[in-house]
Amino acid sequence: MHLECYARTDPGPIREHNEDAFLVDQEYGVFIVADGMGGHAAGEVASSMAVEIVRDLLVDQEDPEETRLVREVEPVDPADILRERLRYAMNQASILIRRESELRPETRGMGTTVVVLVVEGEQAHFAHVGDSRAYLFRDGRLVRLTRDHTVVQQEIDAGRLTPELARLVPHKHILTQSVGFHGPVEPDTTTRMIQSGDVFILCSDGLTDPLDDEAILEVVHAMPVDMLADALAEAALEAGGEDNVTVVTVAASD
Ligand code: CA
Repeated sequence: MHLECYARTDPGPIREHNEDAFLVDQEYGVFIVADGMGGHAAGEVASSMAVEIVRDLLVDQEDPEETRLVREVEPVDPADILRERLRYAMNQASILIRRESELRPETRGMGTTVVVLVVEGEQAHFAHVGDSRAYLFRDGRLVRLTRDHTVVQQEIDAGRLTPELARLVPHKHILTQSVGFHGPVEPDTTTRMIQSGDVFILCSDGLTDPLDDEAILEVVHAMPVDMLADALAEAALEAGGEDNVTVVTVAASD
């Protein structure tokens, strides 16, 4: 698969810091968005640490001992191994960020969301913790590939809240897990077959707070792929978004 990748991050109109971090590594097919939280500049520390650690474990270290064990159970689907490595990388990031926050009191309590896409051949592998999301645009439709790790998502799943109301409640940002703050994490992981024409979108909640899925789809329909990341970020700001906003787009073609 040939990949065409774009990214845009914007601090937004009022925030002093941009606590979002992202990675576009086209050579290795690794794409990450992380949205940090914590007082002072701690959010920036957490999100940039997470991006770096996850990237290094996926790209530099071919087969860490912890995931090699999986290989010993035969036969093993390579996609299982990759997803195991994603889970391992997210947990390592979480442990190291937590350790850092214990060493530096000014960063205490910092954490970050992480959403990762790894493209290997015809497969797209995803892992996430928190409420940064992955979407797939295919055949004119937008599909959300991740389920937010938030208290409101749990309430939606339990039937106590509708998705429309969930956008309005004040505690919508409370995460049920985050990388760093919560120590060990349980990322959700999935693998999908890629089709030529697919466009994957990774984003922070600076995009999905001001824009619902329908509004995102409208922009995706209207814009060519090389302008899409910029157009989505700008649409979020135009819709009144005040948060840091980050969008990574990855278009696949034969
Ligand atoms: Ca955010």
